Amino acid sequence: MARWDEILSLPVQNPPSLEFSAADLVWSKVEGWRDNIDRVALIPYARVDDFVRGESSNKDCPTRFHVEARRKRPLEMAYKPKVDGILEYILYWCSFGPDDHRKGGIVRPSRTNYVPKKNNAGRPNTKRGCTCHFIVKRLIAEPSVALIIYNQDKHVDKKGVPCHGPQDKKAAGTRAMFAPYISEDLRLRVLSLLYVGVSVETIMQRHNECVERQGGPTNRDDLLTHRYVRRQERSIRRSTYELDADDEISIDMWVESHQSHVFFYEEFSDSEPFTLGIQTEWQLQQMIRFGNHSLVASDSRFGTNKLKYPIHSLLVFNSDNKAIPVAWIIAPAFGSTDTHRWMRALYNRVCTKDPSWKLAGFIVDDPLADVLAIRDVFQCSVLLCFWRLRHAWHKNLVKRCQETAMRVEMAGQLGQAVDSICRGNGNMDLFQSFMDDFVEARHFMDYFKAVWYPRIGSWTAALKNLPLASQETCAAMEFYHNQLKLRLLNEDNTSAYQRADWLVDKLGTTVHAFFWLDEYSEKEDFSRYRKDEWASGLTSWRNALKIPDSDVKLEGKFAIITSQTHRDIVHIVWNPGSVFSLCDCDWADMGYLCEHVFKVIKVCRERGSALPSISLFQYKRALLDMLHCPPHDSLVRDHAISLAVFIEKQLSSLIDEGSSNITNKPQSIRVISENQGGDLVEERNENSSSSSDGHNCVDTSETPGRTTENLGGHLTDMAVEPNGFCNETGKENCGKMDVDGPSICSLTPRLLHVEEAPSNGFLLEKRGSDSISKTTDVVNAPSLGGNDLADFKA
Ligand SMILES: [Zn+2]
Ligand SMILES: [Zn+2]
Repeated sequence: MARWDEILSLPVQNPPSLEFSAADLVWSKVEGWRDNIDRVALIPYARVDDFVRGESSNKDCPTRFHVEARRKRPLEMAYKPKVDGILEYILYWCSFGPDDHRKGGIVRPSRTNYVPKKNNAGRPNTKRGCTCHFIVKRLIAEPSVALIIYNQDKHVDKKGVPCHGPQDKKAAGTRAMFAPYISEDLRLRVLSLLYVGVSVETIMQRHNECVERQGGPTNRDDLLTHRYVRRQERSIRRSTYELDADDEISIDMWVESHQSHVFFYEEFSDSEPFTLGIQTEWQLQQMIRFGNHSLVASDSRFGTNKLKYPIHSLLVFNSDNKAIPVAWIIAPAFGSTDTHRWMRALYNRVCTKDPSWKLAGFIVDDPLADVLAIRDVFQCSVLLCFWRLRHAWHKNLVKRCQETAMRVEMAGQLGQAVDSICRGNGNMDLFQSFMDDFVEARHFMDYFKAVWYPRIGSWTAALKNLPLASQETCAAMEFYHNQLKLRLLNEDNTSAYQRADWLVDKLGTTVHAFFWLDEYSEKEDFSRYRKDEWASGLTSWRNALKIPDSDVKLEGKFAIITSQTHRDIVHIVWNPGSVFSLCDCDWADMGYLCEHVFKVIKVCRERGSALPSISLFQYKRALLDMLHCPPHDSLVRDHAISLAVFIEKQLSSLIDEGSSNITNKPQSIRVISENQGGDLVEERNENSSSSSDGHNCVDTSETPGRTTENLGGHLTDMAVEPNGFCNETGKENCGKMDVDGPSICSLTPRLLHVEEAPSNGFLLEKRGSDSISKTTDVVNAPSLGGNDLADFKA
């Protein structure tokens, strides 16, 4: 009995890495299991797979663990309430055991019908009597927790001799040197290449060339077989999206067989419309990697006109600030889906993997987005990106207004209207006068009145109230939108678009594969297969950085810019300096912001002929507002000083960082900031609860440097990738600042309202104090864990 008390009082360990192994856990020894001393640890039940994966990629002895035995208690089954009752029991065994098919090895009686194959090319004879195994128990007393019991943690056979891996001398030169199966990464790579149409032969040829270059096989992945790839190819070829003639039943079946890709599913009911949230394991990893302390953007509707159900994508930005889709939500366009529920499900899924995961800002592209739900779930600021509006206007101007002079003027006036509203000097009347001024452009006006005028009120309100995302974000969203169009809507038979099962299948296979390959560094090896769908490269914003100033000539009402691909061609950019510029290149003709427009904006700003961007303007205004807000009592003032000093430090380190280094240096500032933010929250809570002692606050404000250094020193290995803060040159500060300005700018106004502060913004969120203690755990894991154990023993 005492043993169970001991076990249940152990800490539940949740390492922050995507996968983790026994080495990342603190193990407690427990006596009494058949006189053995077992090593036990508690982890969240939802992370058992992460542990199994981590254990499999053991550096000293790579392997794979399979489920050797499993018992599950049916939910309805009555049980006696006892402390050690279990819901589920899973025995994981090293795949090199437990049987031993080596000469003279022991095979369990039930398996004696095994006949060793003469040729092991197909299914290598992997069983070598390995005894390494562990048990996972899910206890009735604590179903959210998994108890791991490690019985045998060495990869040895019954005699205690290493039986596979580098330690096993007999394994040298055979497959038993390596893990028995290929890695998840290679499996995904092969599948992705097959999905996008690369042939089995090409995959194998590239693979063999690569292995040859490195001088022979050095790990399991190098032993990829032609047969394996061909089998995958065949199963893809033979699969069909139409699992049932009835689309709804078909979707049900898809969900059933793709549980790991579904984070939310609700069938049609009287109260709720159909909603399906898709996120693969890889997408989850990208969301954790690029979303943490950074931004998520929402592309709220794709394919409204073409597809049965439009797609709502959630995007993160990689190190090139290109969008990667990390979740797709499919729901009917009509009726308001309860965003709160799928968002909560998604957030919980991410936090199960990484409890310290935290968003800095959420960018919406729809003025009717449920901002309250976003703030409630993600506890972060919400920004607005108007790319959808600008793109639609631009595209329709090109389509519906043939006369260049008129088109240019209309774009200019629309641009000024948006600009004035965002800078706080205008309202809806501006669009009314726009419609009055251009009555004669009938084609466009009919469109504008029908489609946009009914929505312009909500757009105006959103442009006024939400901080604006940068132009680089617009460029990334447009780029993604175009990629998705090329990769999804390319069916010969367009009747498929009216089936939801086709949509989920295509997203989960081909479309996912293309986005996976975008992040795969050796994608170029297959570039001769390049079709439109492969379109990759950088966003137009990033491409603009490569255009030399000397290629730009400003001529008053327009600018002339030399093409980078064909030096004998020039492009004309009308309305230079505005995001409502019009260019005559192909990309701009489709309604997108092209590199020429961005380059001209940059040149105009440098020469002072264009205003700084709206996001930079809003950022500066927020700083000024903060300066002019006198705190109403002395304690609040102390708190305000500490925050102001902290933010000032944060900003100057960003600028230092920006001017002193280029990409790839870990970006530790945001991590530091959160911890210090946590500090401040703690301070503040103390103050508000005891309301007696103000000097804690003052301490913080006097010594932020010290805190920063300490935390910074410890936390560098937790640092996130630079994502927009790092600048290639000092000159680009301004332009780059556009990217992240809003996330800061949206925070600063909130800092004024101290009452509101703890529940809003990412600096001062409720869990701030939680996260600091968790982070400390991570930093000091070994010693802390040791202490815990000592306490437990005592
Ligand atoms: Zn083993
Ligand atoms: Zn252009």
